[in-house]
Amino acid sequence: MRVNTLKRVAVAFALALPGAAIATVVAAPAAHADGCYTWNRDLYQGRSGEDVRQLQIRVAGWAAYRDIVQVDGIYGPETAAAVRRFQSAYGLRADGIAGPQTFAKIYDLQDNDCTPKHFSYTELDNGCGKGGWSGGPLSSTATRENAVRTMWKLEALRRSLGDTPLYVNSAFRSIACNQQVGGASDSQHLYGTAADVVSRSRSLCQVAKSARSHGFSGIFGPGYPGHSDHVHVDSRRENNRDRSSNTTTWSAPNCGVS
Ligand SMILES: [Zn+2]
Repeated sequence: MRVNTLKRVAVAFALALPGAAIATVVAAPAAHADGCYTWNRDLYQGRSGEDVRQLQIRVAGWAAYRDIVQVDGIYGPETAAAVRRFQSAYGLRADGIAGPQTFAKIYDLQDNDCTPKHFSYTELDNGCGKGGWSGGPLSSTATRENAVRTMWKLEALRRSLGDTPLYVNSAFRSIACNQQVGGASDSQHLYGTAADVVSRSRSLCQVAKSARSHGFSGIFGPGYPGHSDHVHVDSRRENNRDRSSNTTTWSAPNCGVS
């Protein structure tokens, strides 16, 4: 799962000539194919296409407070702002333009199976101990795609918490599994859009509060019934297949999150 691919080769060498010390650093900006997806052009406001959509999936966790990044393939101001936040979170020049440095960082964060490097399909597909993405209301392909989007938001949340591990207790659940654990009848867990997370170094309130600025429209944590030992995050606002309205619902009363 954790395949580290050499995405970029940097060659540094110094030449010392008699009478003059010259230090030269040469970075070889080789174009590398990524096992999941490769971008072939710079992206900025006004561009559109599948490459924009792929970018949006990966920066959706850098949405504004209480907002989301639409994954619609159109590079608008919200996408540009999310790219800027992504760039500053990783120490890049925050210009809102997705160019070689931004893509190199994404390649660095991305496993060949399209998951971000700190989360895996296995981790999110653990409902009731079964594997596979079937048994929910959506096709297994659609469910798995939702899980990828969930993981990229979790990667952003993890980064904002200081790059400390976030552990997923439960994410996708089949209908049967959801009934078994007493989940809500139209739970986001059925769609692959939800994850229940814990941290060993950050409080649940820190996790719940931070999640507000990472594209999660559903947040439930301490003070909300049944959520004293984990934080539930989901993307209900983007889920057009469920029965809920596409609005933000947050509740972690003990953390001041509402
Ligand atoms: Zn949950």
